[in-house]
Amino acid sequence: MSDSTGWNFLNQDIVACERCPRLLAHCQHVAAEKRAAFRDWTYWGKPVPNFGDPRAEILIVGLAPAAHGANRTGRMFTGDRSGDWLYRALHEAGLASQPGSVSRDDGLTLRRTAITAVCHCAPPENLPTRDEQAACRDWLTRTFDLLPTRVVIALGQIAWQAAVEELLRRGWLSGRKPRFSHGQEANLAGGRLLIGSYHPSQQNTFTGRLTEPMFDAVFARASRHLNEASGSN
Ligand code: SF4
Repeated sequence: MSDSTGWNFLNQDIVACERCPRLLAHCQHVAAEKRAAFRDWTYWGKPVPNFGDPRAEILIVGLAPAAHGANRTGRMFTGDRSGDWLYRALHEAGLASQPGSVSRDDGLTLRRTAITAVCHCAPPENLPTRDEQAACRDWLTRTFDLLPTRVVIALGQIAWQAAVEELLRRGWLSGRKPRFSHGQEANLAGGRLLIGSYHPSQQNTFTGRLTEPMFDAVFARASRHLNEASGSN
């Protein structure tokens, strides 16, 4: 099976997932109600697949689609302010073909990078329950199974915890669980690296808790790690 075939199969399975009735109902409800500014859109309104390079070495783990962002457009971090921040930073680091992201057919491609989430369905209040996070964990595991990941970037505390649990389970991380903070790093088996970053939500970007230089430094660090790893091979 080619890289893109496995990637496409996984994404088809994610989109067809029906494990969390509360979240599916919420996605559909938001899609039917819509926000006035997007009344001409046909909302995606279902689980949002992974996005990016099927051979990605950098795996970004977000929390969940935004109700009027990815739940509208059908692509991770597309169509909202968090996505504006993320794709600007990825473009700055040479990991995205363009700095903007408005719809899933806007031509954006990622280089050596993919984006997944703790939950693939938009949750009420942006907060999936523990059971919903656990139900979605299988997709995170299958994403890790598929990609030749060298760097994991966790956006926010919940993504960090999910990534740490998955990395422990895979044996890439051992000992005490590392605590989350912005710029926190943990060395993983096989020369891999885990990096923590504040989530680029408006809660963080409007308050100045996360600045563009802080965010850029995360992706510069990830790129540097890949280049160092390539140089030592
Ligand atoms: S959150 Fe994940 S497990 Fe739950 S329905 Fe959506 S895709 Fe399936």
